[in-house]
Amino acid sequence: MSQELGITVDKHQDTSEWYTQVVKKAGLADYAPVKGCMIIKPYGMKLWESIKENFNDKITDTGVENAYFPLFIPESYLEKEEDIVEGFDPEVAWVTHGGNEELEERLAVRPTSESIIAPYMSDEVRSHRDLPLRLNQWANVVRWEPTDTRPFLRTREFLWQEGHTAHATEESADEETMLRLEQYQEVIEDHLAIPSILGYKPEHDKFPGAKYTTTIETLMPDGKSIQSGTSHQLGQHFAEAFDITFEDEDSETQTAWTTSWGLSTRTIGALIMAHGDDDGLRLPPSVAPHQVVVVPIFQEDNQEEVMDYAEEVAEDLEDEGLRVEFDHREHRTPGYKFNEWELKGVPLRVEVGPNEMEDDAVTTVRRDTGDKEMGIDKEEFIESAESTLEDIQASMYSELEDYLHENIREAESKNEILATIGKSRGYVKTRWCGKESCEEEVKEEVSAEIVVLPFQEDSEPATIQASEEEISGECAVCGENAERWAYFAKNY
Ligand SMILES: [Zn+2]
Repeated sequence: MSQELGITVDKHQDTSEWYTQVVKKAGLADYAPVKGCMIIKPYGMKLWESIKENFNDKITDTGVENAYFPLFIPESYLEKEEDIVEGFDPEVAWVTHGGNEELEERLAVRPTSESIIAPYMSDEVRSHRDLPLRLNQWANVVRWEPTDTRPFLRTREFLWQEGHTAHATEESADEETMLRLEQYQEVIEDHLAIPSILGYKPEHDKFPGAKYTTTIETLMPDGKSIQSGTSHQLGQHFAEAFDITFEDEDSETQTAWTTSWGLSTRTIGALIMAHGDDDGLRLPPSVAPHQVVVVPIFQEDNQEEVMDYAEEVAEDLEDEGLRVEFDHREHRTPGYKFNEWELKGVPLRVEVGPNEMEDDAVTTVRRDTGDKEMGIDKEEFIESAESTLEDIQASMYSELEDYLHENIREAESKNEILATIGKSRGYVKTRWCGKESCEEEVKEEVSAEIVVLPFQEDSEPATIQASEEEISGECAVCGENAERWAYFAKNY
């Protein structure tokens, strides 16, 4: 593969450089003049639009309506809820001037929108009949991260959706929190083919002011965990601060319960990292902008016939409802095209030359395995193309599922936690007392933290049910009674 087009480093030897090259060379994103911001290029945007459409269908089918709230939040609004102020203050970008005039009140560029959506909810909600109120917005947010930024994975401005709901009862807010987490799991697992672990964040790591925070974690090939979506039960904290109250059936005034939940362009970072290989991106068919690429291979004397035949194959595939790219560029060699589509992660490549044309056949190459099948009968191939793509989707998922299961290791003492993190990738599962200081002790030595308190012990990662079961045993760090299982990992 030519140097300028191909990836020049090994994914496992230099994951960081590999990631940067894939992002740039596959045409997903580029750096912007302001550090930590990114230009999302059309190919990257197609991935986001696909994720957006997939999730948007799920939420609108389950009672959520889209709306849009302002980018600017008055400082006094942000200050109404003190946990939000404390939690986000170091990361807020402030607007202080309009033109040359200093503003009377500073405006925050939204880091999240609870404090501007809650006052709206307060106006909208009068009676129990107005509840539940379910809103979502697709927007950008800004968090001025001081640390290392990387396209998609950690950027100062990113795209996301933020859902905000208000409920009459605690139970209804709990159900909402879990439903949205479950829908994130469907996006991450079914659409992006990445297995996940669901659970709570530790108390000290929850969303500022929330009753609890749930997370969906995915394991990357370098052994680090990526938080791929979060759903928060906000309790009555925000409703009290912003006066979201309603009259119940007995005409008594009650305070509502609220939730919020978000999924961002970070999922694209997880997608690149989880599936990519030394040749570039590998996309699961469900999210791939082009599911199949048809590449004609011709000489001067047979160009026209081969092109016609290749176009016919492409059209037949389109008629099957597949997303197809017919690469009819004349100034590029077939070899160049193969490399480019491999780099861009197209799941299935179809090659047609004079031999295929003569036999009414095609040759196919799978991006996930590299398996090549020569001279398949054309009709047979067209009929089975959809199921081939389904097979690619399933095998990409199961490859990572095996990897996830192999990389959850149990540890029973602090030394064992440290040693396991030191020599292996992935999660270290351990009993934990619930104290932040025990996590700190580990964090100081190996920069790994508790990324998730899994919902259910000994269950498949896909299980949604929250576990209330008591665990027996002692905290691996301090030896006091353990409250829960905790997963330590390095993370993005
Ligand atoms: Zn402890």
